[in-house]
Amino acid sequence: MGRYTGAKCRLCRREGVKLFLKGDRCFSGRCAMARRPKPPGQHGRFRRRPTQFSIHLREKQKAKRMYGVGEAQFRRYVERAKGWKGVTGEALLRYLESRLDNTVYRAGFASSRDQARQLINHGHFQINGRHTDIASHLVQEGDVVEVRPESRDRLREQVKAAAERRALPTWLTRDLEGLRVQVTSEPNLEELDQSIEVNLIVEFYSR
Ligand code: SF4
Repeated sequence: MGRYTGAKCRLCRREGVKLFLKGDRCFSGRCAMARRPKPPGQHGRFRRRPTQFSIHLREKQKAKRMYGVGEAQFRRYVERAKGWKGVTGEALLRYLESRLDNTVYRAGFASSRDQARQLINHGHFQINGRHTDIASHLVQEGDVVEVRPESRDRLREQVKAAAERRALPTWLTRDLEGLRVQVTSEPNLEELDQSIEVNLIVEFYSR
């Protein structure tokens, strides 16, 4: 299935939470969740009582949409997380947080994960000095993600302006002049800007 190209705010309204899909707009009074928080559609305001299935489904959809991951890939992360020694839900979140597009977004180099993905796809980033255009690449402790030298002049102002507006998570250190960020540890799950009930997601895929 292709990537969703419809109205992004509709997804937040569907899930009933802010998914932060539109950059700065999400932090302004123009956010649709502030103005029209009811679910989209003609019958949006007549919410039925949720079933157990729908509770699990919605939590899965929320995480998937927030990170911009397709169903097949999301399922692969769940399967990989199940093989992990620790808590499956935490492993799943770590996979999602370690994606290159999310790292670029968390570093403040893009105002949304979508924008981060676009910058990566257009070849503006490198990891440890090697060019990559794979947004789903999983970064590891010690990795250095930076804007490629060829793209620095073009992106410097845009990236710096975005970065100055965002707090940096503790698992990254940033060099704004060099337009690079280093992964200093595993993602700290306590710093997530939206709570995700991962146990519901794991249960969804264990049915
Ligand atoms: Fe739209 Fe962002 Fe608000 Fe979601 S959080 S409704 S994407 S403006």
